[in-house]
Amino acid sequence: MKKVLILTAGFGEGHNAAARNLRDALEFISDEVQVEVLDLFESTYGSMNTLAKSAYLNMVQYAPKLWGGVYNLLDNSKFVENRLGGFTKLKNALADILHETQPDCVVSTYPVYAHVIQELYRDYAERPFTFITVVTDAITVNSAWYRAPSDLYCVANEPTAEVLVQAGVPKAKIRALGFPVSLLFTEEPALPLRLPVGEELRKILYVIGTGKKKAGKVIERLLALPQVQLTIVCGRDAELKANLLERTSEFQDRAHVLGWTNQMPKLLLSHHVVISKAGGAITQEAIAARCPMIVNQVIPGQEEGNAQLIGDYKLGAVVERNREVPELIEEAFGHKAKLWLEWRKNLLRISKPDAALTLAELVLAQCEVADPTGEKIKLFKPAGRELKSAAKSGPASPPRMLLCDFHIHTSYSDGKLTVPEVVDFYGRLGFDCICITDHLADPRRLIGKLARLSNMTVSEDQLEEYFEVIERERQRAWRKYNMIVMTGIEFNKDGYTSKTSAHLLGIDLKSPIPSALDLPETIAHIHAQGGLAVASHPHIMKSEWGKNTLYLWENHEKFAHLIDAWEIANRHNIFDCVGMKRLPFLGNSDFHKPKHIYSWKTLLYCEKDAEAIKECVRRNEHVSITLFRENNQLVANAPLRPAPATGRSELAMPAAAGLLAVRSH
Ligand code: ZN
Ligand code: ZN
Repeated sequence: MKKVLILTAGFGEGHNAAARNLRDALEFISDEVQVEVLDLFESTYGSMNTLAKSAYLNMVQYAPKLWGGVYNLLDNSKFVENRLGGFTKLKNALADILHETQPDCVVSTYPVYAHVIQELYRDYAERPFTFITVVTDAITVNSAWYRAPSDLYCVANEPTAEVLVQAGVPKAKIRALGFPVSLLFTEEPALPLRLPVGEELRKILYVIGTGKKKAGKVIERLLALPQVQLTIVCGRDAELKANLLERTSEFQDRAHVLGWTNQMPKLLLSHHVVISKAGGAITQEAIAARCPMIVNQVIPGQEEGNAQLIGDYKLGAVVERNREVPELIEEAFGHKAKLWLEWRKNLLRISKPDAALTLAELVLAQCEVADPTGEKIKLFKPAGRELKSAAKSGPASPPRMLLCDFHIHTSYSDGKLTVPEVVDFYGRLGFDCICITDHLADPRRLIGKLARLSNMTVSEDQLEEYFEVIERERQRAWRKYNMIVMTGIEFNKDGYTSKTSAHLLGIDLKSPIPSALDLPETIAHIHAQGGLAVASHPHIMKSEWGKNTLYLWENHEKFAHLIDAWEIANRHNIFDCVGMKRLPFLGNSDFHKPKHIYSWKTLLYCEKDAEAIKECVRRNEHVSITLFRENNQLVANAPLRPAPATGRSELAMPAAAGLLAVRSH
């Protein structure tokens, strides 16, 4: 097993995106590598870092010129070096981590780490690992990136490589592999090169950045152009979104307003042009998607290089003022789209959508250089098509016994573990399918108000982020543990009494559902998304001191045809009434912290596939519940899953039947 440590920092989007995408690619191409992504600024400076970060973001938003100055300071020949004393905590933390984990290769996506590592190994002849710097700047490379030595410097493109050569970095140490964008860019075909002139729509993606609230006029002028179809992404600003929806209401079919989205790869791959500020991630993603870019805002410092890349290499254009955008669009598509085709050709030349995979291969090769006596790592480089099916849920497989838990809370509401921690926890135990179901309180109800105040529930404006984080973890869980992760919500409809209170699980949801809906409406939304509606802890709980929620049970005749399954068991409780009424059932942990794992679970006998699992619950055949125990032989011998994803022995039917189980039919 090779170990790779990736160091990043949450300042600006580019560093984290690069780190995360490289980790995904490493885990994707090999089972024999352990990858850890660490933000030492986050963990060593804690709240101070949050302050520094918000100060940074504010600076970028309100005083871009000033931030330019700060970023330039990093470029000052001695700025970082003179301040290394101020990084003592970080240096000590990194020394501990390196000592403990003994990585074969360390990758940095933030310039300060190279200086810290240089400090740490000052007295040693040799570092015991390969050190690779992934430069996330383009062209105007801040010198802090290369003033401290690295074994290799990976850059996004040849022009940037040239800048490093000019600065005196040996050519042999530089690799222009492309920016490690998401693996999603290797999946879908981009729009065809030849823009169909004629009736065809020109699809334009407009990403509204910070401080661009006055985009309305430009949008109206864009929509006045013939054949333009506009997709507007406006972020988390609800007021701005409402405003834009109103302004574009008369163009219904030609204008789509999206708030925050995690579909950027898909959008870039399906639009002819993107209009945006020159942010680190979006510039590189547009290039990966071969989507020409019109830059309408440049924050001095890091973004200047990105803008230069677009402008100088004609991968689109940079405008001085936002109001020049509509004219430029007209020009791009005029004369049989001559200009657009030119942009597009240049993009094809420079674009490297599979850069994360190439970089991952390089990192693994370096691991072997660091340990030449060790065993060779087996790589599997699947074709693009396979990538897609692997990232989604599993390929068709014969039915087998699946260990499932459909009721799990994380730190998004009142759970103790974060989403990635929950995934690793269940993944290591060998679960086949889990659903994360954080609380969402109905704000119209008193308890909902209280709960929101006390941070016990996920807040409505965080829901999109919640979906995005679980989506990312879903892909990682499948690659790493061969475990299906579903997104869910526990809708808390709490009244003053137990008889007016209900908790409802929505399982395998695709997008957020508003909190202020009545139960039948909520269930309709869940079903519209292909999800399951499950009544959680529907009867009196003996062991917990949480309040009982009896509304659904009191009205079970009315709800029976709407509810897909009822929890017959919740953590340590068994609700025999569900069995007596012969209602479809499930057993779940209602997990809030690690010790809750020893509780009731569901066993399903079906294909390991999200749709098959849901269908199995709906039909409620081949469903059993099992009490997962600390001294459970199956767990104690850990025979369930010896190694993630490969050579796993399956939990056999007879063994499972030996557990305390209730079978339907
Ligand atoms: Zn509950
Ligand atoms: Zn719960």
